[in-house]
Amino acid sequence: MSGPAGAPMSGSTDTSAGMSGSKDAQAASTGTAGAGYRIVSLDGHDIRFPTSLELDGSDAMNPDPDYSAAYLVLRTDDGFEGHGFAFTIGRGNEVQTAAIKALEPYVIGRDVEDLGALWRDMVHDSQLRWLGPEKGVVHMAISAVVNALWDLKAKREGKPLWLLLSEMSPEEIVALVDFRYLTDAITPEEALAILRAAEPGRAERIAHLREHGYPAYTTSPGWLGYDDDKLRRLCKEAMDEGFTQIKLKVGADLQDDLRRMRIARETCGEDFPIAIDANQRWDVGSAIAWVNALAPFRPHWVEEPTSPDDVLGHAAIARAIAPIPVATGEHVQNRTVFKQLLQAGAISYLQLDAARVAGVNENVAILLLAAKFGIPVCPHAGGVGLCELVQHLSMFDYVAVSGSMENRVIEYVDHLHEHFVDPVVIRKGAYTAPSRPGFGAQMHAASIADHTYPGGRIWRSPDD
Ligand SMILES: [Mg+2]
Repeated sequence: MSGPAGAPMSGSTDTSAGMSGSKDAQAASTGTAGAGYRIVSLDGHDIRFPTSLELDGSDAMNPDPDYSAAYLVLRTDDGFEGHGFAFTIGRGNEVQTAAIKALEPYVIGRDVEDLGALWRDMVHDSQLRWLGPEKGVVHMAISAVVNALWDLKAKREGKPLWLLLSEMSPEEIVALVDFRYLTDAITPEEALAILRAAEPGRAERIAHLREHGYPAYTTSPGWLGYDDDKLRRLCKEAMDEGFTQIKLKVGADLQDDLRRMRIARETCGEDFPIAIDANQRWDVGSAIAWVNALAPFRPHWVEEPTSPDDVLGHAAIARAIAPIPVATGEHVQNRTVFKQLLQAGAISYLQLDAARVAGVNENVAILLLAAKFGIPVCPHAGGVGLCELVQHLSMFDYVAVSGSMENRVIEYVDHLHEHFVDPVVIRKGAYTAPSRPGFGAQMHAASIADHTYPGGRIWRSPDD
């Protein structure tokens, strides 16, 4: 990959190479591509769904989310599109959308075949990096762009992303990963060994996925805003639909949580896995006390008990509530924090998110870390479009990285799938392996138009 002088240089790990002003951005946009096509546009869209009206998605920290996507579409000069997004819950989605637009010079007119090199160019840009490093709005914007580039690549190659990744050689997969900050936990050689060990049996596991899919669990019964009858009804429905695990939101009021856990346990039976999720509500001490109070109902795991940045806090909680496992990841900012959580023995389940860390490449690094430490990955999903994306990563993990589905489930929430061109298909409590080319991020044009904030049809008052 190459760029004009002064523009962000691809293929370089020299972090001094970067943008130095708007002239450079213009220069980058006139660069030549080496892949036989050029990306000619990056369009951003601020898309919001008024989910707060129904209390869908309500939890102890997020009482009134409007599920939103800072969404982008890349277009090439030969007619292909790549779609990606950052998931937010409403206010601030305009900031996220602007951050995505700020990455335009990295992709317009440039050779984007080497996605490992392009990832490093964006993540290590010396000026953008100041806004993190590797966390927050800019990192999530890079995630959206990287995922859109993978959607584009998968569409060009005519394969669903999980299969595209699963058919790459171990060497090609390792080349996607930036090992900076990781080598005390995993080296490229160790990653290669993990991937080579999983090579035998890839074909059988692809066939297994196509026949049986990948197991899912559902969070739909457990939102805090639902009343007891709705909780009971949704627990029954989850079991009838074949899900093998559910999850309840907790952390607002202990007496409510004791009552709701009792209802769920009575409805689902003694042995059914019921996880709980506090969405970062507690300090370390209150997490320990609260989870131990709920221990008689045998939570399958406790998720996000405290701040996602508090590695040592998670480790202290894990020790104090054992054998109840700790899970976290949906707000973990980058591979370095995941590394520490694993090194500290702080988590028993790793819950990566498809759109918070810097896209597919960083999630490949995280899957390799989890495999190295022998920790099962049970991804975060829900929101808008996160199920559509993350299924690809778990399926790739099963085929080519961990080689296992044991003790692993993908979160599933039955919201907003109708807005996607290739929505997830759940059958007997399992994600069906996607067969259409791409990463699943593409929304219907009408959904984009109707939900654009603030001018779309959904957001206009009847008087407008
Ligand atoms: Mg959660």
